[in-house]
Amino acid sequence: MSFLSQGFSQDLVKALTEIGYEKLTPVQAKAIPQARRGADILALAQTGTGKTAAFSLPIIQKLIDTPKSKSRFNVRALILAPTRELAEQIANNISDYTKYTSITCTAVFGGKKMSSQEKRLEQGVDILVATPGRLIEHMELNNVSLANLEFLVFDEADRMLDMGFIGAIRVILDDIRTKPQTMLFSATSSAQMNALAADILHKPQRITV
Ligand code: AMP
Repeated sequence: MSFLSQGFSQDLVKALTEIGYEKLTPVQAKAIPQARRGADILALAQTGTGKTAAFSLPIIQKLIDTPKSKSRFNVRALILAPTRELAEQIANNISDYTKYTSITCTAVFGGKKMSSQEKRLEQGVDILVATPGRLIEHMELNNVSLANLEFLVFDEADRMLDMGFIGAIRVILDDIRTKPQTMLFSATSSAQMNALAADILHKPQRITV
């Protein structure tokens, strides 16, 4: 299955072709059509399966299709990840995918200066990738607004729960008043993860690879 057949725009497909993506991986073939029609998703998928593109490409395309002017501290999509390494990697992938579009992305995570992240957030970014703790620090300083959030992703949700981020996740969820399309990706399943999924996902499509 090709990316063009999924209705992705030329600017996106051109970038994907340049980085060597021609056909969808299995998790992409299952998740992308569901995400494109707006469904919530619960996916069991390991790292290395192409899950980053599976959740980010449908978001990117929808942001392209419904352009909005960037406003200070506002984000349209939030991707939560357990570690700074993963957050950086996701943001780098998204920057590669969006290089021929006007969609912007940045990552915030601990261990880097708050002030440089704040400056970037102030410009208004479309897609924010964040570790939960650092995101809350920015929320407390009003450096980020989730008031207009349209998309929410939990990547490696099992690791976030193992690392004790459930409290932080609750704080973040409490701040979200919109009903974003939500996708939860995890390598493993557990009672705690299923409870979180039941809480935040609306009629999710279940995907396993
Ligand atoms: P991920 O599971 O998202 O970390 O992706 C694993 C690796 O597969 C990364 O190096 C991606 O750039 C690459 N990848 C993802 N989707 C595709 C695709 N459709 N074709 C070729 N490589 C891909």
